[in-house]
Amino acid sequence: ADHCFDYPIRPDLMKWNELYPNYDQNGEQVEYLDVGCGYGGLLVTLASVYPDKLSLGMEIRVKVCDYVQDRIKSLRSESPGKYDQIACIRSNAMKYLPNYFHKGQLSKLFFMFPDPHFKKTKHKWRIISKPLLADYAYVLKVGGIVYFGTDVEELYNWMDSHFNEHPLFKQLTEDEISSDAIYSKLFDCTEEGQKVTRAGGKKFLAAYKRVEDPYSR
Ligand code: SAM
Repeated sequence: ADHCFDYPIRPDLMKWNELYPNYDQNGEQVEYLDVGCGYGGLLVTLASVYPDKLSLGMEIRVKVCDYVQDRIKSLRSESPGKYDQIACIRSNAMKYLPNYFHKGQLSKLFFMFPDPHFKKTKHKWRIISKPLLADYAYVLKVGGIVYFGTDVEELYNWMDSHFNEHPLFKQLTEDEISSDAIYSKLFDCTEEGQKVTRAGGKKFLAAYKRVEDPYSR
């Protein structure tokens, strides 16, 4: 239940240095967010691809979040200095993003293998929906990128059409994709992605960038 979540009432009150105690933040803020990070494979990859950026995983399941926190702790002690810029918190990303992040703070937002919620009556639990896209647009900076991937074609089409119809998002061009350092790694760096690979399943991936509000100019 919600009362189990500990969250800041506004972003200024978040004690980030407790999550990244060895990283000299120097005024830098979290820029990359992995929503529903699961067992943390993408976070570990982000640490090596973007060593100078602060990345955060948000995971709703207590045990899974504890696992990722332990994983990061042991990586930090095995390889000092290499994993100081990644961390994981337990939270409900469908409710609390604006409590953690300022407007335009994030430059990458990842939704890898979100829960499909197949039944029509459960579609309201999908992490991509019209109202939630407004929250995601709020926390992303103009030019920031949202990535989503799944092995469920129907869910892919659902997510893709929501981003496609939204005035604040525009699909990345082939050129933009090929110059993106993380895109091609997304297929296989998460535990769920590796599971799909082992099972020989198909994967669907897309990326959209946050564009300026066409009505505010
Ligand atoms: N992204 C990981 C991967 O690719 O391996 C995990 C994928 S798993 C199928 C989906 C994850 O999203 C689960 O770990 C689940 O607990 C988490 N999740 C679901 N709803 C969430 C929410 N509202 N906020 C944060 N995490 C959520």
